[in-house]
Amino acid sequence: MNWTHRPPWIITVFALLFCAGVVLILSIQLGQSYRNEQEHARTVAETRAIVLQSQLSSALAQLNLVLGDISQQITPQQLSGLAMSEDERTVLHGLLLDKLTQVRQASNIALINAAGQTTHEALDDQQTHISLPEDDVAMIRNNRYLERVYLTLRPESSSKAPVLLLARRVEDSNGDFAGLIVASIAASYLSPLLEQADAPPNQVIEIQDQEGFPLAALRGITHRSASIPFDLNPDALAESRRQARTITALSPAAAGNRLVSYSAIPDTPLALIVSSAAADYLRQWQRNTMLYLAGGAVLLALALLMSFFFWRSHRLSRNLRSKELKLQASENRFRQVIETTPVALLLARLPDCFVTYINQRAAQLFDLPQAAALSMRALDFFQDRDQFVDLVYYAQNGEPAKNVEVILRRHDGAPLWATLSLSTVTIDEQTVLVIGMNDITERKRLEEELKRRATTDSLSGLANRAHFMERSESELIRSKRYGHPLSLLMLDIDFFKQINDSFGHPAGDQVIQRVAEIARACLRDTDLIARMGGEEFAILLPETALSATLDAAERLRHAIETHLVITPEQHRIRFTTSIGAAQWCEEDQSISDLLKRADNALYQAKQTGRNRVCADN
Ligand code: GH3
Ligand code: MG
Ligand code: MG
Repeated sequence: MNWTHRPPWIITVFALLFCAGVVLILSIQLGQSYRNEQEHARTVAETRAIVLQSQLSSALAQLNLVLGDISQQITPQQLSGLAMSEDERTVLHGLLLDKLTQVRQASNIALINAAGQTTHEALDDQQTHISLPEDDVAMIRNNRYLERVYLTLRPESSSKAPVLLLARRVEDSNGDFAGLIVASIAASYLSPLLEQADAPPNQVIEIQDQEGFPLAALRGITHRSASIPFDLNPDALAESRRQARTITALSPAAAGNRLVSYSAIPDTPLALIVSSAAADYLRQWQRNTMLYLAGGAVLLALALLMSFFFWRSHRLSRNLRSKELKLQASENRFRQVIETTPVALLLARLPDCFVTYINQRAAQLFDLPQAAALSMRALDFFQDRDQFVDLVYYAQNGEPAKNVEVILRRHDGAPLWATLSLSTVTIDEQTVLVIGMNDITERKRLEEELKRRATTDSLSGLANRAHFMERSESELIRSKRYGHPLSLLMLDIDFFKQINDSFGHPAGDQVIQRVAEIARACLRDTDLIARMGGEEFAILLPETALSATLDAAERLRHAIETHLVITPEQHRIRFTTSIGAAQWCEEDQSISDLLKRADNALYQAKQTGRNRVCADN
């Protein structure tokens, strides 16, 4: 899937969905573990409550049994403490002491008479002394159904611990109230029961009497105050009593929620309260939650970061793409322009000069398909390869060629005139030759034609007068420089007027043409033959002295004399020429002077009978 084509908000939505998923999974996981932790804490609190309940319950039941046993062994008289001998007292005391040693939970056992006075005690010390308030004794005395009573002796000062008393009613043979057998259970017995080696720091355990007064308490290390740090739930306590089982309820408190287990101790008015603080049982959960939250936050941050980076890279790639498209469009436009430009263009890489691009115009110029040019080298298109190498050399040294006229080479080898511009550019660290060409073959042909027309006589095809004069001047300069001889002939057809008159003007033209042909055939290529006007010709013979010139003139004269011209009308024409010759000498200022002397010799030939060669000496 190519994400660069998708709108960027999609990835943001994906990132947010991912984050929401993470948050959901985390919250489910945390909720589940919260419930698990709470359930575990509930089980622990209840187990603790049940264990303590059974310990207390059995301790009190055992104590009750011992008190029952004592009641079986004593008489109401002994209970009243009246009329007892010292021995009897000793025996009774021994009995009480014996029973006290059987019950570790009791700190003392006392006998109390019907008047509420303590008559005997197992231990006779001030610390454990048992005496009952008159009101309590009266309450038991008046309620004959109270066989067993738990009483709390609240301390007068908060520094002293309360004492739990278990009083057992004793009746005489008439069924009247005879007194009580009372055992005291000190806080020093109850408190260690509540201790636990691995107790959580905020755990609170309390044993309460029926009025909610604490008989023993374990407040944990953080709650040392006298009161328990949460509101009791009286309904739960009542429910526990009614159902005779442990009831656990969640109790909100200022210092954090608590799980509170209420256990009524059977057959007693006592209740056991075990409370676990959320701060304890949720400690690990809170730690995990913090870890999860931190992990979740990191994930969230990563997802947002990824989303941001994606958004940024998406925007960059979008920009890049649009720039690429623009570039491509511009390149296409450029290619179109290059392809349709009237200038032939060719690119070649250096140094091997292989063609890397050729436009349509250039391919047409060289008469080959564009693709075929790509396997060729630029110099293959040049007639003169050395010239190409020179042009490249200059271009590389900062002197690009501009409109240089060169002869190129078509694919079939045919030459082709062109003006050429050649420069180098560096593209991607690669030096490229840029060659622009304009076909000027037609222009060159026209130029040549014009030149030819300007210098040639149209009837004879020989040089005309002006061209002859121009060439002769330069030949004269050369001859002077090298000290070579230079001669000139002037030739005039004899009685030409008569030819015209006898056979017509076209026949005269034919004769002029024939003289030109014969002159070309008889003379050297280096000799310059020109028609000076009418039936008059001039011939310049470079590097030729007068004697050789006269020989050539004679040869020419003879050839013409013996030549027969047959006109289209089958007229047979014979004709002669007179020739004047002169060799350049120091006195001649210019070619005109030489011409004049040759002309004089010609005149002389005419005058002396025509059909002859005369020299000007
Ligand atoms: P001469 O022997 O003294 O030279 O006699 P000629 O008749 O040749 O002399 P002239 O110079 O009087 O005659 C030249 C004639 O050449 C006159 C002219 O009509 C004719 N002529 C000049 N140019 C041309 C041309 O191009 N074609 C033809 N057919 N005749 C020409
Ligand atoms: Mg003439
Ligand atoms: Mg003539």
